[in-house]
Amino acid sequence: MNMNRKSERRGLIKKLKSEGYLSNERVIEAMLKVPREEFITEYQKSYAYADRPLPIGEGQTISAPHMVAIMTEHLDVEEDHKVLEIGAGSGYQAAILAEIANKGKIYTVERIPELAKKAEENLNRIGYKNIEIIISDGSKGYKKEAPYDRIIVTAGAPRIPESLLKQLKDPGKLLIPVGGKMFQELKLVEKKKGEFSTKNLGGCVFVPLIGDEGW
Ligand code: SAM
Repeated sequence: MNMNRKSERRGLIKKLKSEGYLSNERVIEAMLKVPREEFITEYQKSYAYADRPLPIGEGQTISAPHMVAIMTEHLDVEEDHKVLEIGAGSGYQAAILAEIANKGKIYTVERIPELAKKAEENLNRIGYKNIEIIISDGSKGYKKEAPYDRIIVTAGAPRIPESLLKQLKDPGKLLIPVGGKMFQELKLVEKKKGEFSTKNLGGCVFVPLIGDEGW
């Protein structure tokens, strides 16, 4: 069974490479290593390596693998980085980031306690030591450990939260879906010498970022 999942995982990564979603070796290695089946319910496991989002409970989803690939590639994480993720969900994206920033630390914020608990169980079962899960409204970031080299938001915001811009290091990068409740545009914000520049990376569909600086 395990071998089957491994070969399914290799197949999916090969497909994402051929479709142009994956090219960075560190991201490819991380996606080859992290078992996506460990982050979803028993009932969904046979779909673990289909390139689509899946329900994880509480009306939330684990993002489709191609979206994880796009976001991780653009985030450009280095091994000693301190990364803040908003929207821990299942913990899968945090695991991918932890593989890359293996000498750094990942802080991941989740507003729904039941999901945070499940994400923690998933990450502990696999054995990640460089991830901390925080139950809080991440639309305001996580001031306690700021500033961060990288910030990734995996829920759709109506606008870029001011707190996240403030908690970004200089230089630093922030990835965030911004737009309506149904569809958004993925934005990459770069901070350099005190200046911010924003690039649009294309359309995406995320559940809403709910909170003081979200919906
Ligand atoms: N990154 C996740 C993964 O790898 O499974 C998928 C994230 S899911 C698409 C979006 C998550 O953002 C949901 O779990 C939702 O509860 C969470 N969320 C929404 N608003 C939030 C907020 N203000 N602070 C923290 N988490 C939030």
